[in-house]
Amino acid sequence: MALPTPIVIGNWKMNGLRADAVERVEVLLAHLQPPAPEGTLGICPPATLLTVVGQLLWHGSMLLGGQDCSSEARGAHTGDISAEMLKDAGCQVVIVGHSERRHGHGESDRLVRAKAEAALAAGLMPILCIGETEDQWSAGETLAVLDRQLEGSLPKGVGADDLILAYEPVWAIGTGRTPSLEDIARTHAHLRARVGDLALLYGGSVKAANAREILAVEGVDGALVGGASLDAEEFWAIYTAGGAGTS
Ligand code: PEP
Repeated sequence: MALPTPIVIGNWKMNGLRADAVERVEVLLAHLQPPAPEGTLGICPPATLLTVVGQLLWHGSMLLGGQDCSSEARGAHTGDISAEMLKDAGCQVVIVGHSERRHGHGESDRLVRAKAEAALAAGLMPILCIGETEDQWSAGETLAVLDRQLEGSLPKGVGADDLILAYEPVWAIGTGRTPSLEDIARTHAHLRARVGDLALLYGGSVKAANAREILAVEGVDGALVGGASLDAEEFWAIYTAGGAGTS
């Protein structure tokens, strides 16, 4: 079943120890006390915290996600984590193709697609990230880049029940800069025409101060949030700015 919107997913990246995780999750769970708000909240902690976070969540309260997975099912891949392992740790979703993997670790479209396919095979919903660099943005190549990334990394035949797409301009991640609302709308309309009813998230410097206007943009079903998800109250404010929440 397609997820209720807004879909707001926090990517903690390589941040947090056990005590931080427990504190953040307890704040979110206090806000999420039934009656459950409309929408979907999720967090992707570092792999070391998945089990501790998973133990705190109650069924249906929040999605738990990995930040990456291997394209391989098992074997001699030191340091990698398979999609099945994430599923076993309690995850329902996994980020693949984040720009910090594509650019920081040289991941190709082909590898990202293999990771998304591995996630699907393990019963996880991939959150597939695509986005242009600053140079590509300046050169007016955004839509062509996104088309190329979709062609190369989106598994064939996926629908809204299988995969979430996140548009994340690389130059907006962690910089405090965002495209104009018109540009976000134009880009999401372009993506919508290509991927039909897949949920489309925007990611890149979303915070409480800009979440309401970004989440109200036509074609934006939610947000992938990095830095601002480390502050649980700010993260909750982003979620409720999208129309979710009761408190
Ligand atoms: C991200 O890492 O996916 C992201 C959107 O980061 P930030 O919100 O910090 O820009």
